[in-house]
Amino acid sequence: MGSRILNEFYMTLNIKEKLAALIRGTVEDSSARLAQYGNDASIFEIIPQLVITPEDTADLKTIINFVREHKSADKTLSLTPRAAGTGMSGESLNDSIIVDMKKFNHIQEVGNDYAITEPCVYYRDFEIEVAKNELFLPSYTASKKLCTVGGMVSNNSAGEKTLSCGQTARYVKELSALLADGNEYVFKPLNKEELTAKINQGGFESEIHQRIYAILEKNYDFIQSKKPRVNKNAAGYELWNVWNRDMFDLTQLFAGSQGTLGIITKIKFQLVRPKPYASLLVIFLKDIIHLGDIVNTVLPCNPESFESYDDHTLKLAEEFLPEVTKFFDASIKPKIVLLAEFTGDSEEEAVEKTRCAEKHIPIGKAITTMITCDPKNVDHYCTVRRESFNLLRYHSGHERTAPIIEDIIVRPEFLPEFLPKLYKILDSYNLVYTIAGHIGDGNLHIMPLMDFREAKIRMIAIELCKKVFDLVFEYGGSMSAEHNDGIIRTPFLEHMYGNEMIKLFEEVKLIFDPSNIFNPGKKVFGRDLAFVKEHIDRVY
Ligand SMILES: Cc1cc2nc3c(=O)[nH]c(=O)nc-3n(C[C@H](O)[C@H](O)[C@H](O)COP(=O)(O)OP(=O)(O)OC[C@H]3O[C@@H](n4cnc5c(N)ncnc54)[C@H](O)[C@@H]3O)c2cc1C
Repeated sequence: MGSRILNEFYMTLNIKEKLAALIRGTVEDSSARLAQYGNDASIFEIIPQLVITPEDTADLKTIINFVREHKSADKTLSLTPRAAGTGMSGESLNDSIIVDMKKFNHIQEVGNDYAITEPCVYYRDFEIEVAKNELFLPSYTASKKLCTVGGMVSNNSAGEKTLSCGQTARYVKELSALLADGNEYVFKPLNKEELTAKINQGGFESEIHQRIYAILEKNYDFIQSKKPRVNKNAAGYELWNVWNRDMFDLTQLFAGSQGTLGIITKIKFQLVRPKPYASLLVIFLKDIIHLGDIVNTVLPCNPESFESYDDHTLKLAEEFLPEVTKFFDASIKPKIVLLAEFTGDSEEEAVEKTRCAEKHIPIGKAITTMITCDPKNVDHYCTVRRESFNLLRYHSGHERTAPIIEDIIVRPEFLPEFLPKLYKILDSYNLVYTIAGHIGDGNLHIMPLMDFREAKIRMIAIELCKKVFDLVFEYGGSMSAEHNDGIIRTPFLEHMYGNEMIKLFEEVKLIFDPSNIFNPGKKVFGRDLAFVKEHIDRVY
């Protein structure tokens, strides 16, 4: 009797009240809270219905089961995980339930060359903890003070060291995730025998392994042919990295999947020891026309990182980071600054590599150089590069930074031919824009300033994406090297990969998430460009 009354009472509750009754964590829907989760570092605004902060894995399981069970009655119900919310593609925004992962913030173990951690640990805290064992995760982002390691995995993020050290996916050795059936599973690389055993064991996990394996094996050559031929990529599902006919590794599918396949609860990272000495070759270019050639001159000398920023960024840094720029030679007025970092086991080795690279540069009126191995000085130059987006973001008046074409990548050897065509498109719109980025990878962070209150400007944003991405695809590049697809780039995936590949992406999503519970509209089954335009945030 008591339980019948309870049941009847439960049926009268709305979704918020029901969920609040079921979990230990919080369920919120105040307008202030919803507004806070309606934005990230992208150009979009989408206000959710609820924000849930689960206390633990048991809460997460309950939430997933609840949404799955109520999905047929309410098709709009979904779960979008959110970590620090610093994504630039709108990937953590959605109109249903946002799952704030902030309670999953414990580092569990740091070993000789690895760390096991929950996903919502801030990189800045992770960095300090693993440095005690003289280790680091080299795929750190320019946002390393703001973002979490789980966000980095989910975006397959990258940064200044990626040129020599690769993206975040490379360092994911094992991960635990909650899938659509509400259970937690561990993913790690499997050899053929282990894969066969997993396929034969039965259950949802087994079904996933069997069906993903079948897709990858059947379409093996086709999938490999679709791998973008660039140093890094975050667009689409990285199917080509899962099965190499020797090892089968679903961690490589989760990395970069933007919370669309399940919710990550634990990550084991492979970590590395930093080289103890670094030397920086700073190259000041008076003119952009030399950029492509200089990049290709320095790259064969194998810098550990090769970054860039432009005069506009430098001007902002002079104004807002004077404690850093006061050490720079103010008489040099470059259009572009390039930073090639060389490392070694001794200072002599690092400096020798730097001098070797400098020798090949045609130094003159338009090109000057400087070498420094003072760690503080190196840090000053790198800080301006890392802060480039933030400087612009917070100091651009009534116009706003518009990350839309901010993550394109082409092979560096194409830069001399590609760049003039790119500038022609950009300049045809009379826009103010800055360029910084990972120039050694051919990954350019182009950040236009736009006033989205004007409908015409919102149109231009979409048009610009189409034109720039077309050019990038012409050169076999990717529209996203590290910031991933989110809202802004999902509609362009078909153009990048073709319809046949999109069908495979959709099959993969449906195998993991048959009811489309997790972060719908990202990667697959995305909305159209009208939706994209409609949700550009106009108020700031
Ligand atoms: C100033 C600035 C500079 C930046 N520089 C770089 C850069 O150099 N390189 C770079 O790659 N990016 C950069 N970014 C973008 C962003 O910081 C990174 O992509 C970062 O890794 C996102 O981490 P986050 O914790 O903010 O994740 P969020 O933005 O909260 O989430 C990112 C994605 O991960 C998913 N997610 C979060 N937690 C989980 C989980 N537990 N399980 C499953 N999915 C989950 C979310 O649904 C979302 O799709 C920059 C951003 C800013 C603001």
